[in-house]
Amino acid sequence: MAFKTNAAAISIPDFKEGTIGARVEYFQEADKPLSLAQAQKNFTTSSIKTGSNQSISLGINVAPAWLKFTVLNNSSTLQKYRLSIETPWLDYIDTWLTSGKQVLKHIPGGDGYPFEQRPMAYRFYAFEHNFEPGQTEVYIRIETKGPMAIPIHFSAKEHAIKRDISAGYQYGLLYGIMAALALYNLVLYVFIKQQEYGLYSLYLIGFILNSLSYTGQLHTVITYDFGAYFQDWLDIFLMITYSIAGLHFTRTLLKTKEYALKLDGIVTKATILIPSGMLVGFVFNQLFFSMLLAFLLNTCFVILFIVMGFKAYYANRPFALIFLFSSVTAALCITVSTLAVAGIVVPYNDYTFKAIEVGMALEAILLSLILARQFRSAQLDKVIAEEYARTDSLTQINNRRGFHSQINPIWQNITRKKRDASIVLIDIDYFKKFNDNHGHNTGDKILTALATCITKACRKGDISARWGGEEFIIFLPETPQEQAKLQAERIRQEIETIELILDGNKLLITASLGVAGSHNGMFNHKNLAPDTLESMINHADKALYQAKKQGKNQVHVVNSRKAS
Ligand code: GH3
Ligand code: MG
Ligand code: MG
Repeated sequence: MAFKTNAAAISIPDFKEGTIGARVEYFQEADKPLSLAQAQKNFTTSSIKTGSNQSISLGINVAPAWLKFTVLNNSSTLQKYRLSIETPWLDYIDTWLTSGKQVLKHIPGGDGYPFEQRPMAYRFYAFEHNFEPGQTEVYIRIETKGPMAIPIHFSAKEHAIKRDISAGYQYGLLYGIMAALALYNLVLYVFIKQQEYGLYSLYLIGFILNSLSYTGQLHTVITYDFGAYFQDWLDIFLMITYSIAGLHFTRTLLKTKEYALKLDGIVTKATILIPSGMLVGFVFNQLFFSMLLAFLLNTCFVILFIVMGFKAYYANRPFALIFLFSSVTAALCITVSTLAVAGIVVPYNDYTFKAIEVGMALEAILLSLILARQFRSAQLDKVIAEEYARTDSLTQINNRRGFHSQINPIWQNITRKKRDASIVLIDIDYFKKFNDNHGHNTGDKILTALATCITKACRKGDISARWGGEEFIIFLPETPQEQAKLQAERIRQEIETIELILDGNKLLITASLGVAGSHNGMFNHKNLAPDTLESMINHADKALYQAKKQGKNQVHVVNSRKAS
């Protein structure tokens, strides 16, 4: 042929499939648009570059590019191949298939065209062609305002179909994982109302939408005829939405405000200023300016994630290490994809292009793990706090609240089945004197010793508590009053044996006990009502008063005739 070629032709049918950037020659228009004939002429001059990598990347908002490659069909039959340019945001793409001076076909496309006018109903520019035996020159002109990243894929039709199916499964799996996590965390947010779950869900949904947008999948289904720049604008707005949600999620999760106030301020400002700038860009229709800001925010996002992880790690925050690991992994994956699309160092292929989604899915799983563990530790904290609220801090036995919460279910059962139960109230004798003569500390020791003594003396099923001051209470289920009285007497004797030595002398500790049971006439089984627990305690108190009045260090039972 008359044209000068530097890049090797693609021989079919030997060549089955692959990205063919290295087989492509290209140049960019200097000022005004060129016709095919002018471009063909240009390819014979010396100002031509050959793609050195699988994907050709020329930057954002650059002049239209012309590409050329040669297909050599070595067989004697037609060979059906598909050509695809896999960045879906490219605005206008025109391909001419030529043989010698003759133009065989002109195939316009790109997201500047309504969906049904594109060569294939596909998320990016693609067409299929029966290549005649011999040589075919392919010329492509691409014009776009977004990033001029051109990964050209060329494949035999069967391979293209297999690739479609496999891509469907891959995206299905990735989006499936993330959508499930997003939904789960949204549900958690709705029920628990904790910000981080909501922000995390927003972050995931934002990322899925962003990915659906820049892979062109959204635009094949919903927004297919919204015009040339719609995808560009949507891409960058979704890009910042998930970045903002991600940054605020991280602030909340790691509680950066508590130990890195300055960083927290920077993050907050970045998430306000950059989007505001973009909005201004949108109002004045400055796509390039807004796009630069979006990429700036996304770069900040990756860096700030890692910086916040480090800060949290040095502040000894829980989960900081997992967070750091997940954010570094995601950052690496994002870098791999970006470099691959830009055609630097990393080869462009299906895996490197999708590294960003894989990284995000991995990150999503690790972050969910953190949230789950946080959930668990919050639950444990709650259990501990509840336990705390039910326990007397000095004696470590139940307080009133603990007593009631333990008794309530048992009491209901007792009233329903009309079973016996008794109450024993215990009050230390002359306790004030111990305090006055030996100090408050000794008083506390006596209280603790008494609590231990009562706990030991209780049978399984009995519920004891500190009722207040130097008073203790025991609830004895399945115990009629007479039996409770015997039990109280045993406890009284046990209390006398408490060994507390002070200045070489054993302190003699005694207590008075009041007993009231369900079998003493007032609480006859017919009348057992839920409110009789309260009156049973009142009667035990009266009995205790009698015991005090009659000389202390004794057990008294409520007198049924007097009480009724
Ligand atoms: P009685 O024999 O009639 O029961 O007389 P008492 O001195 O034991 O009873 P009183 O109700 O007059 O005094 C109770 C004292 O218990 C008063 C209070 O200072 C003391 N007290 C209450 N709670 C605590 C505590 O937690 N630690 C100590 N050390 N003393 C307490
Ligand atoms: Mg007392
Ligand atoms: Mg008292």
